[in-house]
Amino acid sequence: MSSNKSVKNLCLSVADIRAVAFDCYGTVIDFNQPDFIATMAEICDRQRLDADAADLWRRFLRAALAFRAENHERPVYSRYDEAWARQFEHVFKRLRLEGDPWQAALYLKEKLATAPAYPEARDILDALRSRYRVALLSNADDDFLLACLERNSLHFDTVVSSERAGAIKPDPAIFRHLASSLALTPSSILYVGDNPVPDLLGGRQAGLKVAWVNRFRLRRPRRVPPPDVKVASLQELLPLLCGSGVGQEPQP
Ligand SMILES: [Mg+2]
Repeated sequence: MSSNKSVKNLCLSVADIRAVAFDCYGTVIDFNQPDFIATMAEICDRQRLDADAADLWRRFLRAALAFRAENHERPVYSRYDEAWARQFEHVFKRLRLEGDPWQAALYLKEKLATAPAYPEARDILDALRSRYRVALLSNADDDFLLACLERNSLHFDTVVSSERAGAIKPDPAIFRHLASSLALTPSSILYVGDNPVPDLLGGRQAGLKVAWVNRFRLRRPRRVPPPDVKVASLQELLPLLCGSGVGQEPQP
């Protein structure tokens, strides 16, 4: 999709947008796959486990898929600390490692609670706030999510976690929870995320408009429909949403 086309697409619908909601990790908080793998390496160091961190991470993700279909059609809600402890327990057992699954899960939570925001995030949220309600929707437990937002001084009109909604993206239920928290129709919310299945497919299935922040030039899976907007960074969103002629009240 050319950048011209994404501008054109958004201009067609931006007049109806009343709120912009963001995914957290990988979108406003700078914590991505290499950070998860580095965290796995730190867990191995701390627990003196002889394992390859990238392999541990791959197995951990496979366990997430097997146990609760994370990032798939019908994900099963559970708290992340419980889910992660179960995944670590499974992976440690398979690799015959004498690891402590709960200690590992709590360490991962700590890393997410202390992860840094992208440097531009706060200014962009502030700029959007003059025209839109600004929300956050994340697959996360409240404790580490709220600690992370507080630590980075990121403020939102509404924060929806999977723990609060009792549902995990891409389940439309979590997006419906967001819409009712904002008292808005789903189609008047633009959801901004980095991960195609939970963010783009999930948001779209619930009737939201969706924007893809594709910093790492990922390929879009075939089953995920094209987003309404595609950008390479949060900065690129701003002229689209607050630039000349867009983001204003609809003309009669
Ligand atoms: Mg994300």
